[in-house]
Amino acid sequence: MVEGSSKRLPIHSSPITVTFLGTASAMPSSTRNHSALALRLGSDVWIFDCGEATQHQVQKSSVKMGKIEKVFITHTHGDHIFGLVPLLVGCLNGAGGTTDGVEDTRRNINMNEPPFEIYGPLGTRAYVRSALKYTHTVLARPYVVHELRFPSDPQTGDFTNLWRPRAESPNGRNIPQVDGVWLDVYKDNILSVSAAPIYHSVPCIGYTITEAPVPGKIDPQKYLPDIKRTKTPLSVMRQLQAGESVQLNDGTVLHGPKPRNGRKLVILGDTYDPSPIVPLAQDPDLLIHEATNAHLPGIVTNTKDGDTFEAVQQTAMDRGHSTPQMAGAFAKRIGAESLILNHFSARYPGDDDTDPESKIIMDAIGNLAAEEFGKPVVCARDLLSVDIGIRGKEGKETDRMDTT
Ligand SMILES: [Zn+2]
Ligand SMILES: [Zn+2]
Repeated sequence: MVEGSSKRLPIHSSPITVTFLGTASAMPSSTRNHSALALRLGSDVWIFDCGEATQHQVQKSSVKMGKIEKVFITHTHGDHIFGLVPLLVGCLNGAGGTTDGVEDTRRNINMNEPPFEIYGPLGTRAYVRSALKYTHTVLARPYVVHELRFPSDPQTGDFTNLWRPRAESPNGRNIPQVDGVWLDVYKDNILSVSAAPIYHSVPCIGYTITEAPVPGKIDPQKYLPDIKRTKTPLSVMRQLQAGESVQLNDGTVLHGPKPRNGRKLVILGDTYDPSPIVPLAQDPDLLIHEATNAHLPGIVTNTKDGDTFEAVQQTAMDRGHSTPQMAGAFAKRIGAESLILNHFSARYPGDDDTDPESKIIMDAIGNLAAEEFGKPVVCARDLLSVDIGIRGKEGKETDRMDTT
């Protein structure tokens, strides 16, 4: 566990926003880029997976490059990591060096500055290091790579013989699994991130992001008669709002409202079975689960007669992936409040907001998941943004997830 370097301001009064930057599986298309999503937490941005051209997608979205402070990689398949080094270079003012005799001011890196943080499985550090070295890239600010090591991985060392670049902090941790999970790989006063392995064709990680409890809803009418009667300053309301108990001058004790659970998100990488993350993933506000392949006879015109649901599901699982039904069933298993699907095969177009035929296909995929989940399911498309509000906040329950 590591404590965040600075105290984070509470974010419960603002939405946590998920912006899907890429929603394709192996092959990108004209309507879907490779995997990446941005999580906006107050003014900070964290990126989960970073497929090729993620930096381009950030530029097309309302996500600010300068606000990105962390990247979490689920696994090192190219469609999830090929965009990491370009994004790093973009965020840390990196590019080629200077000719002999010309001073490059970026070489005077302030290593006391909080580093840009990258979390990922074994190989993430070596991958970044070799890409920087062989492209002669110079960075102006520090970065650090923390690796979540599986029990079968080497537990120490950098997994590469390349020298650490000047900009790489020596404080990168190799985080061992304990009891099958990586608990609190990041934690500050407001947010924590834990992780667990999920089954795919290569080592793969699912992440949970949890907000600390937030103040309960206060009903001033409940307290005002006692406050007025005892001529207590109204400022006492602040203590009550914080959940504290206050004794008035006549001995009456007022109890502030109980804190409410903060928000919780579960973001999975590629998987045919995410069971190992179940202990960490209970009751999230949002689950993001892949649905690479679907059986859509009568809807996708090139469905072959011999294609059955069982055959499609088996093919998906053999490649380490899921069907919408598998995603829906998992969302139900962990008691998710809402489910969004991503990581779609290139045959499922991502322009369903403008093309009626695409909408029919993506609605059908969402419905397959919804039949298992028991609630409506959203299929992500590139640049879709979703706001997650606090559970139990004023307003209709359906207002908690707003998509734009
Ligand atoms: Zn993938
Ligand atoms: Zn993969």
